[in-house]
Amino acid sequence: MKPSPPLDPLGRTIDYLRISVTDQCNERCLYCRPAGYRGWSARPEHLTAAEILGVAQAAIRIGFRHFRLTGGEPLLRPDLLEIASGLSALPGLETLSLSTNGTRLASTAGALRQAGVQSVNLSLDAIQPDRYRQITGGSWAEFWEGFQAVLRAGFKTVKLNCVLLRGINEEELRPLAHFAAEHQIPIRFIELMPLSLLQQARTDLFLSAAEAKEIISGGQNLPALPDHRPGHGPARYFRDPSSGAVIGFIGALTTPDFCDSCNKMRLTADGKIRPCLGQHGEIDLREALRNQTQDAEELLRQALANKPRDHDFTRGYEPARPMTALGG
Ligand code: SAM
Repeated sequence: MKPSPPLDPLGRTIDYLRISVTDQCNERCLYCRPAGYRGWSARPEHLTAAEILGVAQAAIRIGFRHFRLTGGEPLLRPDLLEIASGLSALPGLETLSLSTNGTRLASTAGALRQAGVQSVNLSLDAIQPDRYRQITGGSWAEFWEGFQAVLRAGFKTVKLNCVLLRGINEEELRPLAHFAAEHQIPIRFIELMPLSLLQQARTDLFLSAAEAKEIISGGQNLPALPDHRPGHGPARYFRDPSSGAVIGFIGALTTPDFCDSCNKMRLTADGKIRPCLGQHGEIDLREALRNQTQDAEELLRQALANKPRDHDFTRGYEPARPMTALGG
């Protein structure tokens, strides 16, 4: 019999673990890692595939059911397929998803699907190649190849993620919604969170979910889809009657009750359990496991007990390490 999903001290069900497999990335999205960032961890600091599977098994024993592989860019991890197939074979796992920038998927999408990855979220902040490069440092053509491979590979769900950047990608929002509609996949627009030092220096980049909705809808009402919840994320969904797009908004900073429905914790590539993205508290699982002082189940329970009520993003949170190191 499956264990009941674990509850945190506020009674929220926490059954979703985002597992970062590397802090390295082949892009340099301006909101995710500061320019000139040199804080990469060395390979021996990363949890091994066996350690990740051990933590996942412990998580399942206490009732976790949903895992997402992320990074950095998870496709840079050479043994990603081994990790994915190990996780997907775990009895008790319900969903295995992947977050990626898509640029390395052209040759791997099919193998990832075969390894048991069910859903893929792709970052896409702009349609225009120049703007795509301005934001990510990467290549739209590589994204496009990867995107087509994902569509061919038969994943259960594919979603797009776009971070809202005032003065940078407002003009892209409507074309992005149309792009999503054309390919019949949902797109989520995400408020910029202060997760690299950029936001401290550039508060003018923040664009709220409400403003984005206004831009995309052209002032029209977007009917809400209250029961629509593809995946396990925090987006609130709407339908755009003009394009037919299913559009989610992740208003982490402007939605007052945003954290009430939090259902997740993070495991960083260097083996820290992070109960909340927007609070610094972490538990060093790697050292405890390698020194055999405590086991993963005990530490996951400890992290659950320490899960804060809400994030500190609107209370002057200053990132000690950027998003690329925490796992998106
Ligand atoms: N490289 C992969 C990707 O591009 O999806 C996985 C990691 S990335 C950190 C995961 C997600 O976090 C992406 O959708 C990205 O846009 C989002 N993200 C990163 N930094 C962010 C920030 N400062 N505010 C909001 N979302 C952010």
